[in-house]
Amino acid sequence: MTKRVAIIGSGMAGLAAARVLRDAGLTCVIFDKSRGLGGRMATRRTGDLAFDHGAQYFTARGPRFTALVEQWRADGVAAGWFDDAIVGAPGMTAPAHAMARGFETVMGWEVTSLNREASGWRLHAGDDSHGAFDAVIVAIPAPQAAPLLETGGVSFPELSSVAYAPCLALMLAFDKPLAFAGVSLRFESGPIAWIAHNSSKPGRSSDRQTFVVHAGPDWSLAHLDETPEAILAKLSPLALELIGAKTAPAFATAHRWRYALVQKAVGAPCLWDAQAGLGACGDYCLGPRVEAAFDSGEAMALRLLESWGQHVSA
Ligand SMILES: Cc1cc2nc3c(=O)[nH]c(=O)nc-3n(C[C@H](O)[C@H](O)[C@H](O)COP(=O)(O)OP(=O)(O)OC[C@H]3O[C@@H](n4cnc5c(N)ncnc54)[C@H](O)[C@@H]3O)c2cc1C
Repeated sequence: MTKRVAIIGSGMAGLAAARVLRDAGLTCVIFDKSRGLGGRMATRRTGDLAFDHGAQYFTARGPRFTALVEQWRADGVAAGWFDDAIVGAPGMTAPAHAMARGFETVMGWEVTSLNREASGWRLHAGDDSHGAFDAVIVAIPAPQAAPLLETGGVSFPELSSVAYAPCLALMLAFDKPLAFAGVSLRFESGPIAWIAHNSSKPGRSSDRQTFVVHAGPDWSLAHLDETPEAILAKLSPLALELIGAKTAPAFATAHRWRYALVQKAVGAPCLWDAQAGLGACGDYCLGPRVEAAFDSGEAMALRLLESWGQHVSA
């Protein structure tokens, strides 16, 4: 019978793992607590506005990711933004949608525990459950992965050493055109680390100018648990000054990324308990980048296949 693998997390790591396993003939079901695919490669839509409020762009260095990105570009779900910076098109979630095509996905379903039954692994979300699976891949941030894996009786000590920087983000839209014509602003000090001219990205609607502002790690940590209104009130006057806006934005909101950018990674591509059939992967294994999440997800899948005696080269 075809082996079944549950993948928890529809970010780049989970999707990369799922593709390799499917190519090897396994059946994968992808679970995510969010309603949308892609994890931190996120697009917030509100009315006719759309903002990439998480990952801003990605680069491709390794041959496997480069080949996939080339395919995305040929299919129109990714495009170059500036220099070697690539973005999803028409939004950052587009590559995730392309990768997830053909998979069974269970969205808006937060896995709260795992348990092993005679027939295999069962995943639980409140009173609801899915099973049976021959293996489970947990592709979610390390601080969330550790307690979930423990419900299944597995503990990877490496997870406790992982550190992330948070990021507080603003999304701003203007009805009247601003003089700002660049693609982005980067700052080495001060509360704001990055401002993206979101509507300058390829494939975005040019009806209204939109911007995404990321506070730096220190400022984000200091203000992490404040309300979106308080964050907006503190950060937006500075953002407006930096982009030269003379009028208030027509739309403004804030978002909190508690686990945004990996500061301390595991330094190994993935974690796998062969006896239990439980594994963990994500950007936190290798570094704070979309490509690191991809590499970790593929490595996770290959490790699983190897331990089941299925040798394939990714
Ligand atoms: C503000 C910000 C800016 C960034 N900028 C860049 C950049 O410019 N370039 C770059 O390369 N990278 C950037 N990154 C990092 C990049 O987004 C990540 O490295 C990458 O997307 C991580 O992928 P992942 O699959 O490891 O995790 P994620 O994308 O976090 O995916 C994990 C998924 O698991 C789901 N999940 C969590 N818990 C559960 C549960 N219990 N049950 C079910 N589902 C669950 C989540 O909803 C999520 O969809 C940025 C990130 C942020 C937040």
